[in-house]
Amino acid sequence: MERTLVLVKPDAVAKGCSGAILARLEATGAKLVAAKMLQIPRALAEKHYEAHRAKPFFAGVVGFITSGPVVAAVFEGEGAVAKVRKAMGATNPANAEPGTIRRDFAESIERNAVHGSDSPESAAIEISLYFKPEEII
Ligand code: ATP
Ligand code: MG
Repeated sequence: MERTLVLVKPDAVAKGCSGAILARLEATGAKLVAAKMLQIPRALAEKHYEAHRAKPFFAGVVGFITSGPVVAAVFEGEGAVAKVRKAMGATNPANAEPGTIRRDFAESIERNAVHGSDSPESAAIEISLYFKPEEII
């Protein structure tokens, strides 16, 4: 069954919106099958954002995602990657549709409340960075 990695980012955790964001994701029909809080070490953040290493915002995203605790979660179900991405909304909250998580909770393109894997292939890699197989129920 398709799985996707979600991170509730430090801005949303700090504002006390973790539960609301997880509830919106559960409402997509995807099933929550793993969750934990952690402070992401720099080396893990650099691996997570490896594909963006050459981009001008790389240092910024790594700095932000390591700036405070996150909630890491795995959602599972048919089309889970796309369902979660739709509920998240556009990367820049200024472009995010009404009713999406980023429209309602994100502060800016840098502090944008939530991460979701962009394909089943990247999900498999990202899930393995954050969870051991036995942590996924
Ligand atoms: P995420 O991977 O966090 O779910 P995304 O898939 O919507 O977000 P990506 O293109 O993967 O967007 O970018 C990863 C993160 O890098 C974004 O969430 C955003 O915070 C940051 N980012 C992307 N583009 C820019 C930009 N042009 N300027 C500043 N930050 C950016
Ligand atoms: Mg992405």
